[in-house]
Amino acid sequence: MRPVIMNTAQTTYEIPDEMQAIKGEIVDNLAYYNIMPKRKKTFFDTQKVLDLLQELTGDNNIKEKWSGLAPEGQILVPALIEYFSENDYAKYGRARSTLINNYGNYCAYCGMFVGDSALAVEHRLPKAAFPSKILEYENFFLACPVCNSYKGTRPDYDTSYDWAFDYISKKKKPTMTQILAGGLDSFIWPISDHAWDGLVGYMINSKTENDIDMSDARNLNNKVVSVKKNVVKAQVEGFTDPIPVVAKVRAESFGDDKLAKQESNFLKATQINIYEDDSSSDRRATNRTILWFDTLSSMNDLQSFATNPALWKIMIKQMALTFKYSGFLEIWSRLIYRISPCNLGPQSAYLEIRQYVIDPTANTYSTGIDAARLLTTD
Ligand SMILES: [Zn+2]
Repeated sequence: MRPVIMNTAQTTYEIPDEMQAIKGEIVDNLAYYNIMPKRKKTFFDTQKVLDLLQELTGDNNIKEKWSGLAPEGQILVPALIEYFSENDYAKYGRARSTLINNYGNYCAYCGMFVGDSALAVEHRLPKAAFPSKILEYENFFLACPVCNSYKGTRPDYDTSYDWAFDYISKKKKPTMTQILAGGLDSFIWPISDHAWDGLVGYMINSKTENDIDMSDARNLNNKVVSVKKNVVKAQVEGFTDPIPVVAKVRAESFGDDKLAKQESNFLKATQINIYEDDSSSDRRATNRTILWFDTLSSMNDLQSFATNPALWKIMIKQMALTFKYSGFLEIWSRLIYRISPCNLGPQSAYLEIRQYVIDPTANTYSTGIDAARLLTTD
């Protein structure tokens, strides 16, 4: 989870004018002809979509051409929009470079740093259930392949309908606009107001599954001993021998029922805490765990420079560069915040590192961080 990351630029990406026209034509006409999602069934009436297509294009062969593609309109409609967008290139793919400029190379869900080619343009409201959102920039996030695959088609049409229904009068069916809003409202998203306080890092002993006391988990002498597949063994304060550990995140919704539900939906959909000991295909929790120990190790090194302010600042700058290429902002920033709190003033490593990551003129700048969400006081 990368909650303090925010797409502040509000930029639109380049869609060719002809594509805009066609997209509007198809989607608006679907609405006009009442070819709207049908609850608890397929989302679109394929025959109606095909009739409309013939009418719009004047091509008598077009029904035959497309009818073989999809028995269900839910596949046909997104496919059509893609097809009319010049056919050879996923148009939302054009948003990728804009998204990377605005968000940085991080998965919006698990927060991991991801190399360019593995980052997918992920749709918050999924393509199949909400085709009108296929090309909307505000509906895009960058996601790693694992988060993208777990999230899949959630939120779907039905749960979005139910969520909308719960929050309107319950006397009438929600409109499409309310259903869309319901889908967005049913999760916490990386840009949501509560996200910073909502997911908190903690560490467990993965053998006993017990939480490790936070003051022990934050001890600067802790270190990783071995990493085999997804098993991270570490020397941790309070334990004589190395133990297997995992750094997880959990919700803290402060008694707010709606927020608790949103957080639980988010964690269920993205599964950012899970890992399998004997596999290394999903490295999200493992990399988060390693980053936790790397942060402690950096803070330990930093202490050696405590009496030399110039060297201390150089070390801090190197840490900012390290974290820029690790991601998991939520973990390292919160760890440092707790270990070296703001009330230390000029000696606060947190305040110093904060300056480096939010300065857009510095090479330590971490693209996309919403500075206002990084805490400045204790
Ligand atoms: Zn991810």
